[in-house]
Amino acid sequence: MLFEKILQVAVAFNYKNCPYQLDHLDGHATCLLSEVVKPLQWITEQLMKQVIIVRDVAIELNRNKSGWEIICRDYKLVSKNIILAHGAEENIISPTSTSTSISISSKALPSLNMTTALNPELLAKTVSSEDIIAVYGAPHSAVLIVKNLLDLDCSVINLYRHPLKYAIYQQDHIIYDNTGLKALAAQYAKQHMDTQLHPKLTRCYLESDQAKNLLSTANKTVYAIGFHANYSLTIEGVDIKNYDVHTGI
Ligand SMILES: Cc1cc2nc3c(=O)[nH]c(=O)nc-3n(C[C@H](O)[C@H](O)[C@H](O)COP(=O)(O)OP(=O)(O)OC[C@H]3O[C@@H](n4cnc5c(N)ncnc54)[C@H](O)[C@@H]3O)c2cc1C
Repeated sequence: MLFEKILQVAVAFNYKNCPYQLDHLDGHATCLLSEVVKPLQWITEQLMKQVIIVRDVAIELNRNKSGWEIICRDYKLVSKNIILAHGAEENIISPTSTSTSISISSKALPSLNMTTALNPELLAKTVSSEDIIAVYGAPHSAVLIVKNLLDLDCSVINLYRHPLKYAIYQQDHIIYDNTGLKALAAQYAKQHMDTQLHPKLTRCYLESDQAKNLLSTANKTVYAIGFHANYSLTIEGVDIKNYDVHTGI
């Protein structure tokens, strides 16, 4: 299992002394991400004892003579160097978007964000079995969202651009390793979204005429159409949206 290899390889993680070992899991199978939460929290706590940490949200980074001034919500910090590891944000489509594929969504429907749609407990508080929900996208997150909604007895319209694609396991490598569906998502898609459709699910190519008709019946949407770099930070002298995708600089 990849998690264990990574946890063992970094000496600083001190994983051998971690009370949350993962050796009960099948080393050759996939597992839920939740399995790694406790070991990672323990490792993070150990690392935090070894360095000076400040927990805050960075808002603005400005260059000064000795390096960087970091303006946070509660603190103002100075640092010689910075490493940005502030993740990605979900892509959102505004109802007024002029993109061809999305302009077919003529009426502005309330949309659920991915954080809610991927969390069955939060989702249960937000939707009902009366809802007809249009889910845009067909990769991993969209499949899990479709599953969560169908589990709550909602009707779902899944609008896709590309057919479902599955990771294919070979002896020493995986075809479509990064782009193909795996584990629970692959299993669910094969069973309920591919050759045989769940009775409350309709799937439709996004740019077809049928999509427009189907969308007119929906009352909510979820856009599971990927992520983009997090642009929430202002960095003096740096256009954060413009970087080399290979070097990140
Ligand atoms: C549904 C789903 C399933 C996934 N499944 C898998 C999987 O099975 N296997 C896998 O390898 N990957 C999976 N991924 C992808 C994986 O989660 C990401 O690749 C990974 O989390 C990226 O790590 P990161 O540290 O770059 O960013 P993040 O994990 O997003 O961390 C960024 C952190 O920066 C913080 N932050 C942001 N802005 C600021 C700021 N201004 N100041 C201070 N802090 C800030 C955020 O709060 C966050 O804690 C999945 C993703 C999703 C959405």
